[in-house]
Amino acid sequence: MSEHVLTAKERIIEILENRPEGLCDDCLSEIANVKTRQQVNINCRKLQKMGSLRRDRAKCPECKRQKIINTLIGLNNKLQPDGIKKMSEIRENEAQYHASYRSAAESLDSIRRQLIEIMNQLDPLQNQRLGNAAREGFSDRLTRLADSGIIPTNIMISMRMLNAMRNAAVYRECLFDAKEEELINLAFQIILRWWGRRRKS
Ligand SMILES: [Zn+2]
Repeated sequence: MSEHVLTAKERIIEILENRPEGLCDDCLSEIANVKTRQQVNINCRKLQKMGSLRRDRAKCPECKRQKIINTLIGLNNKLQPDGIKKMSEIRENEAQYHASYRSAAESLDSIRRQLIEIMNQLDPLQNQRLGNAAREGFSDRLTRLADSGIIPTNIMISMRMLNAMRNAAVYRECLFDAKEEELINLAFQIILRWWGRRRKS
């Protein structure tokens, strides 16, 4: 599989996922290496419209100035498989394309955050060990945890598929049919079953 080159929006999300306390547009532009600040501003406003991001006036944890701070919504979600909205229910009215696209993206985004939370618990020192520039994205981190035997190969496959489907929903406005939703739910259940057993042992 060829390595997917991250877009500005993807880089912004990856940086904010590692910084639940948020960042101002200027610091985000610098840390995510997205030139210019206007490009950061446009992308963050789009994410805000999608309901994925909040923009509130607060003190920026990086530059310590009082500014508009971007934080991802639901970043500290606890693992709650029952909380995942059933996409088929939400999509009863196909005419509401935008609403349903948002729900598919939100559901998959919520699953992805829970997968990140699992990786954080397996690998708590990641952020301290790596500097800002070297912080890994989802895919590289998953590869490393699978290569070192911390995540079994079959679980890695389900996680990778869910991440690919989430990226398709968020960046390509891809919608999934009922069978694909079953696939999403099954893959997530397989991961949660492994995680539940692993925590007990
Ligand atoms: Zn700042």
